[in-house]
Amino acid sequence: MGKESYDVVIVGAGIVGAACADAFAGRGMRVAVVDRDVIGSGATAAGMGHIVVMDDSEAQFALTNYSQRLWQELHTELPDDVEYEQRGTIWVAADEEEMVEVRRKRDYYQQRGVAVEVLDATQLKEAEPNLRDGLCGGLLVPGDAVLYPPCAARFLMNRAQKRGARLRLGASVPEILEGRVRLSDGQEIVGDIVVNATGANAAELTPGIEIKKRKGHLVITDRYPGFLRHQLVELGYLKSAHSVARDSVAFNVQPRRTGQILIGSSRQYGAEHKEVDQIMLAKMLRRAQEYMPALGCMSALRVWTGFRAATPDKLPLIGPCPERKSLFLATGHEGLGITTSLGTARILADQVTGARREIPVEPYLPSRTIADHVHA
Ligand SMILES: Cc1cc2nc3c(=O)[nH]c(=O)nc-3n(C[C@H](O)[C@H](O)[C@H](O)COP(=O)(O)OP(=O)(O)OC[C@H]3O[C@@H](n4cnc5c(N)ncnc54)[C@H](O)[C@@H]3O)c2cc1C
Repeated sequence: MGKESYDVVIVGAGIVGAACADAFAGRGMRVAVVDRDVIGSGATAAGMGHIVVMDDSEAQFALTNYSQRLWQELHTELPDDVEYEQRGTIWVAADEEEMVEVRRKRDYYQQRGVAVEVLDATQLKEAEPNLRDGLCGGLLVPGDAVLYPPCAARFLMNRAQKRGARLRLGASVPEILEGRVRLSDGQEIVGDIVVNATGANAAELTPGIEIKKRKGHLVITDRYPGFLRHQLVELGYLKSAHSVARDSVAFNVQPRRTGQILIGSSRQYGAEHKEVDQIMLAKMLRRAQEYMPALGCMSALRVWTGFRAATPDKLPLIGPCPERKSLFLATGHEGLGITTSLGTARILADQVTGARREIPVEPYLPSRTIADHVHA
C-alpha cells in the first residue's frame, strides 16, 4: 500500500470493518482495510452469531430490525461455512411476571411488523422438550437467525476485495491522523476518510469516545444433534444486558448446525484480562442448567472470552467524529455487532455518499455522546 491513497481507510477487519469495506467498495469507492491481526479475530471470533431483533429502545429496534432484513436479503449468497440458519428465538418466561413482559414484547413487535407468536407452557415444552418443567411460556420470534461470525466476516471482506478493496493484515495502527493512518512500521496510508472500526479498542485510537470493554464468556459443547432447536434466551437476559454496573449471567443457548450447543452468556465491566473467570463461568453454567438440566450431563469442548464494546446509552457510534474532519466511527455495538454490522455499514456509506437513509441515523451519531469531551 505504501504511499497509495484511498477514498476510505478502515482500521479493523472485524465484522463491522468488513461490512463497511463491502458497502463502500460496492459504491465504487477505493477502500483499504488494515488490521493488526487476521479477519474477524476480535469480538467477532468470540461472539455468538445470534441475529436478533431487540427492543431496548426505538433506536435499537430500528437498527436490529433493519440489519436483520439485510441478513435475510443476503443469506442466499452466504457460503455454507457461514452456517446461516433461521432458527428463530424463543424468549423464555419463567413466571407470570415474565409472561406480562412476553405480551408487552409481542405487542411491540407486532405493531412494528415483526412476526411473533406467544407460546404457553405446553407449546413451549413441545417446541423445546429439554427445557425444565414448570416454565410459563415464551415468545417465539421466527425471523431471528444464527450464523458463524468469523466466516461471515471473511465472506464480507472477500466480497469487498473482489470489488477492489485492499486488505493489509498483521499491521498495527498506533495512531489515526487527519486524513491518514500511521502503521507501527512508520508507513502511512492516506484516505479522504478514515473509519475507526476497532471495536472494544476504539478509544485507544480515538481518545474521548466513551467505549468500555464488557467481558463475556461462552462455552461450546460436543455434538448433540436434535437436543436444541431454537436460540433460547431467558427474559431475564434483558435485565442482565441492561444492567450497567453489576456482573451478570443469563441463560442463552444456541443450536449449531454441527449439533453442538453454544452456551452463554456473561457480562462484566472492569475485567480486562482474557483469562476465563472460573466463578463467572460456574455461575453461567449453573444458570443454564436451571433452565435445561440435561446440559449438566454434556461434555464441553472449549470455553473462551471476548470483549463487547459498550457505550453509556447502549447504542453504537456510527458517523462522523466531532471536530475530526476526516474521521468516522463504526464501533460501540456491545452484544449486537454481528446483527447490526450490515445496518451499520449501510448507514455509514449512506452518510458519506449522501444517499437516502432508510432509517433515521441521528440516534447513532457520535456527536450525541462525545461533543462535551471534544469541546471541553
Ligand atoms: C461473548 C459475546 C457474545 C456475543 N454474541 C453476539 C450475538 O449473539 N449477536 C450479535 O449480534 N453480537 C454478539 N456479540 C457482539 C459482537 O461479537 C460484536 O459486537 C462484534 O463482533 C463487533 O465487531 P467489530 O468489528 O466492531 O469488532 P472486532 O470484531 O473486535 O474487530 C475489531 C478489529 O480491530 C482490530 N484492531 C484493534 N485495534 C487495532 C489497531 N490499533 N490497529 C489495527 N487493528 C486493530 C482487531 O484486531 C480486530 O480484528 C457478542 C460478543 C461477545 C463478546
